[in-house]
Amino acid sequence: MDPDDVLPMRPMRVLFAASEMAPWVKTGGLGDVAGALPDALAAAGCDVRVLLPAYPRLMQALPQRSLVAHVDRLGGALPPARLWRAHLPGGLQVLLLDAESLYARDGNPYLGPDGRDWPDNGMRFGLLARVAALLSSGDSPLTWRPQVLHCNDWQTGLAPAFLHFLHPGRAAASVMTVHNLSFTGSFDAALMTDLGLPWHAFRFDAVEFHGRLSFLKAGLQLADRITTVSPTYADEILRPEFGCGLEGLLRHRRDRLSGILNGIDTVVWDPARDPALEVCYDAATLARKREGRAALQRALGLAAQDTAPLLGVISRLTEQKGLDLLLQAADRLLSQRMQLAVLGSGEAWMEQGFRDLAARHPGACAVRIGFDETLAHRIEAGADLFVMPSRFEPCGLNQMYSLRYGTPPIVRRTGGLADTVVDASGPPLHDGTANGFVFDAPSADALAGTVERAAALWRDRPRFEALQRAGMRADFGWHVAARRYLAVYRAAASPADAD
Ligand code: ADP
Repeated sequence: MDPDDVLPMRPMRVLFAASEMAPWVKTGGLGDVAGALPDALAAAGCDVRVLLPAYPRLMQALPQRSLVAHVDRLGGALPPARLWRAHLPGGLQVLLLDAESLYARDGNPYLGPDGRDWPDNGMRFGLLARVAALLSSGDSPLTWRPQVLHCNDWQTGLAPAFLHFLHPGRAAASVMTVHNLSFTGSFDAALMTDLGLPWHAFRFDAVEFHGRLSFLKAGLQLADRITTVSPTYADEILRPEFGCGLEGLLRHRRDRLSGILNGIDTVVWDPARDPALEVCYDAATLARKREGRAALQRALGLAAQDTAPLLGVISRLTEQKGLDLLLQAADRLLSQRMQLAVLGSGEAWMEQGFRDLAARHPGACAVRIGFDETLAHRIEAGADLFVMPSRFEPCGLNQMYSLRYGTPPIVRRTGGLADTVVDASGPPLHDGTANGFVFDAPSADALAGTVERAAALWRDRPRFEALQRAGMRADFGWHVAARRYLAVYRAAASPADAD
């Protein structure tokens, strides 16, 4: 046995495999997590390395790198690849998997210029998972061997299957984290051959899901431990409404499943030191936040007024995020002098719906379609209230950014939103627990009623400021999550953990 496995004080060696990493390549919460959790794990005493595809943006950002291995003869039709080692500015070591034909593409890592999935995504992320497994096995070309392979979402979900079927008994333990269960990574079964997976793996208790090869199902079935990004979502996905057909499997493995709330990057998201803001502020200088609001109104062409709250939205524009409910409720809210600033992109009909809304309410509603980090920071700071009516929300980051920016969130009670936002009508405001507004029914009426309730409280300055301060005080730093992941790693790597 490796002595590191029995000496608890030695750093735990973890390979963190992901398909995106903020700030370089990010489509959502997974990118934020990959950009922050590994550093927090290192700070908690982990020897962590991150495996990522060598996207052009990462290669350009990390010109100082060394070639550490050629990986070939991986089986099936998998192409040979090179492995580069580089260090991020903070010192974190990353391994870049370089297979030009698969990863040398700019832009969204999953979608081509036509907005559709790249047709070879199965090979692209199959290779990533294959190499993650190889590096976590006794067959690795590197001398550094992880004790735990941490996989994230479907893109690396197949790695536990490769470990199980191709490296039995000679591999690291594996942890599968679900950032969003609704993306299952489902491919034609013929991909099995191309990826070099043996056909006996194509079983209901391995990688098969409704007659197809599912990367996420494989990870959920075969990883030693499963985590998801909030305690409430960990409960919800055991039910058919949220389980995407995987609820039976998850219930079967519930003793291996835990929910760990994401942290946020408290350096990047800090209203006291945010370079994107014209006016910085903290809980002691809350009055200055109003200048940020005026700046946002100017920047977005909204009328300069402060008689009703300005609502902010930064989101993918999809039904998951419940923004169709906001579209239905918006005329009612905007007719009460409230203002709305929306930044997002997503489904074409919803983008159009928001454009039409802005056209109907010039000066009261501003809509920016696209991805814009700077504007996202300015909306968090300049809005009075943040709207997030998600139908489901594995964790959600924007409600935590809002809390930190003194912009109380209005959320539906689901997933990570339920775990982070406490309604103002619950505990007395002076006890400092309440920090926002929560509603239950996924309906435009429930949303509008809650926004109106929030607007009424916004007019009551001292009580509203108590709510803002409660949110700003909360500690959403990654160190809390890192300690919990470390406990999961130790459990996964413990020989007593075997099924
Ligand atoms: P999800 O991962 O489901 O999209 P999260 O709230 O977990 O939702 O994370 C979304 C992340 O992406 C946040 O950091 C948010 O600020 C950011 N984001 C989403 N849409 C945009 C946009 N249009 N412009 C800038 N940032 C955005």
